[in-house]
Amino acid sequence: MPDVPGLAERWGKSVFHCPYCHGYELRRGRIGVIASSELSMHHALMLPDWGETTLFLNEAFVPDDGQMAQLRKRGVTLERQPIARISDHATVELSDGRAVALDGLFTITRISRADPLAEQLGCDFDHGPMGPVVKTDAMKETTVPGVFACGDIARMAGNIALAVGDGTMAGAATHRSLMFADL
Ligand SMILES: Cc1cc2nc3c(=O)[nH]c(=O)nc-3n(C[C@H](O)[C@H](O)[C@H](O)COP(=O)(O)OP(=O)(O)OC[C@H]3O[C@@H](n4cnc5c(N)ncnc54)[C@H](O)[C@@H]3O)c2cc1C
Repeated sequence: MPDVPGLAERWGKSVFHCPYCHGYELRRGRIGVIASSELSMHHALMLPDWGETTLFLNEAFVPDDGQMAQLRKRGVTLERQPIARISDHATVELSDGRAVALDGLFTITRISRADPLAEQLGCDFDHGPMGPVVKTDAMKETTVPGVFACGDIARMAGNIALAVGDGTMAGAATHRSLMFADL
C-alpha cells in the first residue's frame, strides 16, 4: 500500500480498498481516497455514491484536464498537498500542518501471494493493475492440467461470495478430474 505513516496500522479498520464492501458502513460520511497511482481515479469517481469524497493526490499522479472535469462532475474535492501521516480514526495530516478528519479512507493496493506454490507448479498468471492472479478457465482449472485455483489467488478484486462460488466450481471440477482421469 502507499508508503504513508499510519496507513498500514488502520488497514481493515478505517482504511479499505473495496467501496462495495465498506462504502455502506461509512453511512454517507466523509471519505478520503489516498492516491497510489492514476488508478485511484476509479476510487475517487465511485466513492461519491457512498459519501462526501476528497481525493488526496499525495504526489502519486497529476490529473489531466479530462480527469479534472470528471472529478468536478462527481463533486470530488481535490487535495494536492502531500500527506505527512494518518492519525486518530482516519485523520489525514498534511505536510503544511493542516488536518482533515474523515470517517474512512480508501486506497488501491497491489496484491501478492502468501506462498510460491502456484509458481512452483508452473501456473501462468494474468497481470492486472493490482498485481498478478493465477490464470484459470471457467472450471477454475489453471494452465497446468489437474491443478485448480479459486478465490483471491485466481481473480482480481475478489470478495467472499465470489471466493465461495469459485471454490464450489473448483471443488466439483477437481473431483471430476480425479474421477474421470483413469476412465
Ligand atoms: C481489509 C479487507 C476487507 C474486506 N472486506 C470484505 C467484505 O466486507 N466483504 C467481502 O465479501 N469481502 C471482503 N474482503 C475480501 C475477502 O476477504 C476475500 O475476497 C476473501 O477472504 C478471499 O477468500 P480466499 O479463501 O480466496 O482467501 P483468504 O481468505 O486469504 O484465505 C486464504 C487462506 O489460505 C491460507 N494459506 C496461505 N498459504 C497457505 C499454505 N501454504 N498452506 C496453508 N494455508 C495457507 C491463509 O493463511 C488464509 O487463511 C476484504 C478484504 C480485505 C483485505
